[in-house]
Amino acid sequence: MKKPRLKIGVFGISGCAGCLLSVLFEDCFKQIVRLVDIKAFPMIKEEGYEGDFDYVFIEGTVCFDEDIMALNALRKRAKKVVALGSCACTGGVPSIKNFLDQEKVMKLVYPAHNHLKTEPPTPIDQHIKVDYYLPQCPPDKQEIVEFIKCIAQGREFKPYRDPVCFECRRKGNVCLLTKNEICLGPITNGGCNALCPSHGVTCYGCRGACKDANIKAYLAMLKEMGYTDAAMHDKMNTFAGLQFKEQEGDASKWLEK
Ligand code: SF4
Ligand code: SF4
Ligand code: SF4
Repeated sequence: MKKPRLKIGVFGISGCAGCLLSVLFEDCFKQIVRLVDIKAFPMIKEEGYEGDFDYVFIEGTVCFDEDIMALNALRKRAKKVVALGSCACTGGVPSIKNFLDQEKVMKLVYPAHNHLKTEPPTPIDQHIKVDYYLPQCPPDKQEIVEFIKCIAQGREFKPYRDPVCFECRRKGNVCLLTKNEICLGPITNGGCNALCPSHGVTCYGCRGACKDANIKAYLAMLKEMGYTDAAMHDKMNTFAGLQFKEQEGDASKWLEK
């Protein structure tokens, strides 16, 4: 008898919906609908399914109490949870707020919405158990398809663990550090095929901090190149500041004076 297809849900909390859209691109969606049974995807399907899931994919950052409630409810219904995109995996762009004066941000960015009760923006694994991570902003469609193929075929999904520089050097790109630009490639997880440096743009760390990166040595090198602490940390805060900060091990230096 044919094995039933895995039951999947694709949801978003506070985010821009770019990750959800990545799943929906024709070349991605056409392949995954054949492999799994998409039971819930509020962006494209009417809600109504109330059962459990084998896998739930979640986009977005925790910014409000409602996000935490939504996460807890989804966790209870899912055998496995997949963090989809930088926001869910590392906090993404919203997590920049952690490194600024939060009141000042509310007044400057949301002058008409000061009544909003917000949480410090955090990745979803600070609130619920996460089983898999598909980082990047937006996530890579091929990686989403590969992940779904793995789970559908019962194969182990192996996340890319080498820094962006590995793929960048393999492609023969001229290193942007030699042009005196801050590139986060040496301390960032690869797997994007060095997307940004291959187009002459420095890496902003959207795939998260490489676990064995020597961040102190990296920062010392940037200092020798003439960069200030503020310039380095501004760059590192863009997508994965919370992770880089944790790895650097000295939180105080990151906070706005
Ligand atoms: S990771 Fe990027 S594309 Fe996905 S929700 Fe966050 S900002 Fe949008
Ligand atoms: S450009 Fe960036 S990613 Fe490429 S080798 Fe240099 S530091 Fe590494
Ligand atoms: S090069 Fe860096 S910022 Fe660009 S996609 Fe890769 S990890 Fe993200």
